[in-house]
Amino acid sequence: MKWHEMGHSDVIRATNTNEKQGLSDSDVHKRRQQYGPNELQEGEKPSALLQFLAQFKDFMVLVLLGATLISGILGEYIDAVAIIAIVLINGILGFFQERKAEKSLHALKELSAPQVVVLRDGEWVKLLSKELVPGDIVKFTSGDRIGADVRLLETKSLEIEESALTGESLPVQKSMEAIVGENIGIGDLTNMAFMGTLVTRGNGTGVVVGTGMKTAMGQIADLLQTAETMMTPLQRRLEQLGKILIVLALLLTVLVVAVGVIQGHELYDMFLAGVSLAVAAIPEGLPAIVTVALSLGVQRMIKQHSIVRKLPAVETLGCASVICSDKTGTMTQNKMTVTHIWAEGKTWEVTGTGYVPQGDFSYKDRTVQPKQQKSLQQILTFGMLCNTARIFERDGQFQLDGDPTEGALLVSAMKAGFTRDILQQSFTIIEEFPFDSTRKMMSVIVEDKSGKRFVITKGAPDVLMKVSEFILWDEKQKVLSAQFENRIKESIESLASKALRTIAVAFRPLRSGQIVNSYMEAEKDLTFIGLQGMIDPPRPEVKQAIKECRAAGIKTVMITGDHLLTASAIAKQLDLMPAKGKVMDGQTLSSLSIDELENVVDDIYVFARVSPEHKLKIVKALQNKGHIVAMTGDGVNDAPAIKAADIGISMGITGTDVAKEASSLVLVDDNFATIKSAIREGRNIYENIRKFVRYLLASNVGEILVMLFAMLLALPLPLVPIQILWVNLVTDGLPAMALGLDKPEGNLMNRKPRHPREGVFARGLAWKVISRGFLIGIATLAAFIIIYNRQPDNLIYAQTIAFATLVMAQLIHVFDCRSERSIFDRNPFGNIYLIGAVASSILLMLIVIYYPPLQPIFHTVAILPQDWLLVLGMSALPTFLLAGSLLTRKS
Ligand code: ATP
Repeated sequence: MKWHEMGHSDVIRATNTNEKQGLSDSDVHKRRQQYGPNELQEGEKPSALLQFLAQFKDFMVLVLLGATLISGILGEYIDAVAIIAIVLINGILGFFQERKAEKSLHALKELSAPQVVVLRDGEWVKLLSKELVPGDIVKFTSGDRIGADVRLLETKSLEIEESALTGESLPVQKSMEAIVGENIGIGDLTNMAFMGTLVTRGNGTGVVVGTGMKTAMGQIADLLQTAETMMTPLQRRLEQLGKILIVLALLLTVLVVAVGVIQGHELYDMFLAGVSLAVAAIPEGLPAIVTVALSLGVQRMIKQHSIVRKLPAVETLGCASVICSDKTGTMTQNKMTVTHIWAEGKTWEVTGTGYVPQGDFSYKDRTVQPKQQKSLQQILTFGMLCNTARIFERDGQFQLDGDPTEGALLVSAMKAGFTRDILQQSFTIIEEFPFDSTRKMMSVIVEDKSGKRFVITKGAPDVLMKVSEFILWDEKQKVLSAQFENRIKESIESLASKALRTIAVAFRPLRSGQIVNSYMEAEKDLTFIGLQGMIDPPRPEVKQAIKECRAAGIKTVMITGDHLLTASAIAKQLDLMPAKGKVMDGQTLSSLSIDELENVVDDIYVFARVSPEHKLKIVKALQNKGHIVAMTGDGVNDAPAIKAADIGISMGITGTDVAKEASSLVLVDDNFATIKSAIREGRNIYENIRKFVRYLLASNVGEILVMLFAMLLALPLPLVPIQILWVNLVTDGLPAMALGLDKPEGNLMNRKPRHPREGVFARGLAWKVISRGFLIGIATLAAFIIIYNRQPDNLIYAQTIAFATLVMAQLIHVFDCRSERSIFDRNPFGNIYLIGAVASSILLMLIVIYYPPLQPIFHTVAILPQDWLLVLGMSALPTFLLAGSLLTRKS
């Protein structure tokens, strides 16, 4: 028999599982061995060897290998061996960089893999979906992605979108009844839920019947392609830059070689010098270092609780000019406690904090027994029945499983002495229409012992009032007249202006046995009972985070489904609005066109009572005004806005799979302050990339100019080709990497956001590169000329001096690159990686200069101690000249 043909108990028997307890650890272990992990197989990855060989496909490396060949043919074996050694070292460095970047990106993917809720040993736990085995009991709710093939056991308004399997984009209504018949297509298997499909409404439970490649998805999917790693805009721009530089480098090389040959240099020497210069001019290490800097930055972001799902977001973060954030749970703690209850014109106060079900009820400062107040009793018990959350005690702590708003309603009822178990002895829940944030209501149909049925609805009070015809007043049902409506409105406003979140409860008696098929049928002609008002305090760190964002030129906007006054009161506590800031509610928002919204959007700081659909409109209006928008969201309906935003942000704890998949950043802790940290890190990563672009390119310019000037002055070659290669491929790399790990400058969050179209060389970087490259070239040449004039017959000594000056000038320059302002603005020891990198580069240089076996290869001789004064003086000169010119400009 097929799974869909079996009845409920057959499925449980056939999968050998326990519906109440789920599988035990040992069952899981056995089944995992038998069936393997619940994963679709991936395509083959290139082996480490292939990856290593790929390092040598580079244009630059091919040029070098060509040069090696020619050196070999001409009998210059030392040159040939040295070039090969340098190419190898460079290849090994590149290989490890690439591996590291790949590893951290892979770890990232694991972190954002979908999770499932599964019953194991009697407890519901959250696991990665690859942990599922056949026989697992799973539950899912709107927004979840189904983790394996599941035979449904229980469904409540469950709808699943199966387009990934069937191509049909309309969601399918699911049920649990067995289906019989021949050749039923996947789309008609309404009692099954398939791996990879999406729950769009309702909730359900089921038993896993197929995992991994044995699922419907596994059977149609060709081997899953390993996802391509995405390039960020900056990476793409640098790649283009690389191409331009290649052309430029070739032109310059031709020039240098031509001048050299005219000046009477040997053709072979000039050929090798030309090749080395071409290598010097192409910043071949750049793309690899950018990738490493990005992936290390992403690692730091994980430590600060944000997971980047799409790499380009790292750069966009630095451009964010508006953050649109949900209120509940992101700006607030999502730890709700009912403090006020209103019914029949009376307001009771409730004491107690958190989910501990202990507290007293008082009316006008006098303690009351809630069970003796009929209306109070009704609002509390109905709030408990129309509820899907669960409060339980573990290790002496009361904990919540479910929605905090509903948890608060459970606790308030428990404080009055009600428990769900006892209530459920008198009332059976027949049907449930789950909460959704567009309707802003939830309903259940219950039947009491005598067979009487009721609709119980709870939801946003202003919305509930619109679907109520009556009100319970003095224990009687009265018509909800305009007068009563005003009384309700007043009490909503009074509670909301105290920053309380309000929930109303209403009901309607049904005929006995009456069946209600949809929420539309249920949620009408209700009798309004009253309100519960709950506090949800702001997260303590958010106020400061909003302030820092403001200083960084980033506006924070609160977007919430909550009441306008509640939202405004919280906004006030968070100091979110400037004096002229405005608020807008969902109704006004609906009535405006995008153009009209665009005209006013800059002044609005709080959008309240909005539906998720409104978020898209807000994103569009802000983007039309030229903003770079970060938008948070957690539900299924938030996905379009998250996708449309420049930086879509989803919630790690409360977010649905759909929202997470649409987002480019996941907040592990759901906390607004984490967005600020991510933006700061995004800005820092970009600045660090600018730092090493500046460093590497200035170094390259310096190397080319020293050779070009020497040729023009009819001097001998100041640097031999092997030295140029050594500097470029070995001593430059580590300091550049260390710049990628630099800490931000103090004013990072006091600057305006970067313009998204700003080029890498903006803000004077091009000038810095050229001027510094020029000075490094001149300083190196000067050191060379001084020594060459002193000992014209010892060219090799003058070349060694030039080599040391070039290396030292670059290693001093690297400290300059840490600041957009001046080297003296920052503590030079602030980046220990840089200290380590510079020290090892100096060591490598000294080895090449002083270690006798290497001297003939690198054409070096030992430098006399007193000549180091010249080397150091000349190499520090550019820094002092530029710092001096900055100082004079300032004064
Ligand atoms: P945010 O967008 O800031 O997270 P929110 O969580 O307050 O806002 P919704 O969850 O859409 O927004 O809630 C909107 C309103 O719906 C709330 O103010 C409350 O009155 C009502 N509400 C919230 N949760 C429930 C629920 N589980 N059952 C019934 N009504 C609810």
